[in-house]
Amino acid sequence: MNRWAWAEVSSAAIEHNVRTIAATVAPAQVWAVVKANGYGHGAVLAARAAQAGGAAGLCVALVQEGVALRAAGVTGPILVLSEQPTDALPAALQHDLTLTVYSTRQIAALAAAGAVDHPVHVKVDTGMHRVGAATHDAVELSDAIAASPAVRLAGVFTHLAVADEPANPYTNHQLDRFDEVLAALRTAGHEPPLVHAANSAGALAHPRARYGMVRTGIAIY
Ligand SMILES: *Cc1c(COP(=O)(O)O)cnc(C)c1O
Repeated sequence: MNRWAWAEVSSAAIEHNVRTIAATVAPAQVWAVVKANGYGHGAVLAARAAQAGGAAGLCVALVQEGVALRAAGVTGPILVLSEQPTDALPAALQHDLTLTVYSTRQIAALAAAGAVDHPVHVKVDTGMHRVGAATHDAVELSDAIAASPAVRLAGVFTHLAVADEPANPYTNHQLDRFDEVLAALRTAGHEPPLVHAANSAGALAHPRARYGMVRTGIAIY
């Protein structure tokens, strides 16, 4: 590439940012989002810096991104943020990547791929309208996970559409719907160990969105 622009990234700055965010959102955990090659800064560099700054886990968009981190020696939890194609699942299992589920189809595909007690997070669509289970399907999906020896409910989450607009009431509307889902899960006997909703803007501007962990991308860079 004959490009004359470059970026110099200080891994110490990423580490500092994660430490600052962690202090702000505590006791919630920080999971650093390092998808898209760490927002272009280098996924392995970003992952190591984030862990040094206190990130409890990492988030990626694709199985291949998680595999690349493992190949570089990165340890600790790595969550893949959306359902993945069937042919990517064996690598996800082999490299101990926590997976996102919003359909019984993905649970069946995981079982067929040989998963045993594999940690999954259920993603609920509370209004982002990109991916996720309908709110009224969350209990049924969690029942299916509990009934399957292939998978274990390790978390439940949603994604905020407009958290970067602090005055927009839509975020509270989404969180109200999410709280209803959490209550329904509890009533049905499901206690997901990790509950999360916040991206960077959610974590910083909406304290009620912090729950047990936050997924910060842009703010760590
Ligand atoms: C990319 C992504 C994030 C991080 O968003 P930022 O605004 O960069 O903090 C969080 N959650 C999900 C599901 C994402 O896809």
